[in-house]
Amino acid sequence: MEIACLDLEGVLIPEIWIGFADKTGIEELRATTRDIPDYDVLMRQRLGLLKEHQLGLPDIQEVIASMAPMEGAKEFIGWLKERFQVVILSDTFYEFSHPLMRQLDFPTLFCHRLIADESGAIVDYKLRQQDPKRQCVKAFHSLNFRVIASGDSYNDTTMLAEADVGILFKAPVKVIEEFPQFPAVESYDELKQQFCQASNRELSI
Ligand SMILES: [Mg+2]
Repeated sequence: MEIACLDLEGVLIPEIWIGFADKTGIEELRATTRDIPDYDVLMRQRLGLLKEHQLGLPDIQEVIASMAPMEGAKEFIGWLKERFQVVILSDTFYEFSHPLMRQLDFPTLFCHRLIADESGAIVDYKLRQQDPKRQCVKAFHSLNFRVIASGDSYNDTTMLAEADVGILFKAPVKVIEEFPQFPAVESYDELKQQFCQASNRELSI
């Protein structure tokens, strides 16, 4: 039995924080795990900027409602779901991702929660657990699943390493160079081929 684990942002949908930075003009909000590998440092910076600019969850959700999955993402995940059990492992938050998950027909998503006060101001965030993507792969292994995983950034690399097969998708050059052990592909067609190869299947099956 096999499970396909996919990262969300950068693999199926655009980076939500970058979309938000574009709309608000707050340049510092463009930073992602590609720039700051320590996720807590990155999130504290984001929450500080939101407070400084008096922006709350409704403002962010308004932006997200206007965003769409990456071109071809819905077709790709449909293809994948016909062939594998698929679980999205993401460092996003349920409060953020809902409008975009609707556009992907709500695949299973394991991520985190934001904590907002009554005014909508985001006051904290709650990680479900530390190193969650890797812990999920370990848990799937304990359930006797073989795991094929794909992601685009630093916060995916422990997941890719723990998986039976890890694949980089549209990763920045520095991630590809730092982790040469993972095959790196740029298109959904290539990613389909990688999943089939990892699963010893023909592409048409
Ligand atoms: Mg990503």
